[in-house]
Amino acid sequence: MATLTLYLEMVGTEPGVYYETLKGYGNYRNVISEVRTRSVAAGAAPFCQQLAKNLRVLFDLTLKSGPPGFKALNTSSTADRTMLDTDLLCYICETRQLSILRRFDPTRFASFLAQSPKAAGSTANMVRNNMVVGIMSEIYLDRIATDITAATFAVYHEWMHNKTNWTAGEDPNWVHRLVGGGLSEENDDGLKGLTPISAQQMNQRLTLRNRQFLDGVPIR
Ligand SMILES: [Zn+2]
Repeated sequence: MATLTLYLEMVGTEPGVYYETLKGYGNYRNVISEVRTRSVAAGAAPFCQQLAKNLRVLFDLTLKSGPPGFKALNTSSTADRTMLDTDLLCYICETRQLSILRRFDPTRFASFLAQSPKAAGSTANMVRNNMVVGIMSEIYLDRIATDITAATFAVYHEWMHNKTNWTAGEDPNWVHRLVGGGLSEENDDGLKGLTPISAQQMNQRLTLRNRQFLDGVPIR
């Protein structure tokens, strides 16, 4: 069994101040206990580092929710173009204007905006001349007012779409049809926390191989 690595890639500038709206990340159902402000100048972790940490908590629960497909879990707050096809990448866009989808496929981005004007994120199967060049997932911080809890949930949700069986032509909206999944629901008012059902559904998908769309990752 191999290692699963979760990659984030900031597009634009990381917010110096961000907000946490839930205590904890696992098995939450709309429990808003307090809003906490995190300031990097006052010693908080950089946004993407903290986001990677939060996602690690959710994926630890996900890996434990069913048969283990991976023996280890890594997270990285910057992407690496050599990642494996089982790994997951999400672009963290400062604004929707900086969207990677917009940069590489403006027509599809325009149709996404028309269909989902409020959406916090998007995932697309990127195609060039009938060749799939990778699955692209991204979230937009301006849509969630730098709420890192909402960002954590939005990345997890987009990664569920990312794990669609694209080569078999599966409808990526299978995610929204799950019942009882707090991170699978299509919800304009924000996603609820991870539920056992979301965790199990995601766990079953983790070994599926989808090449990630890497053209938006700078060569380092
Ligand atoms: Zn969705």
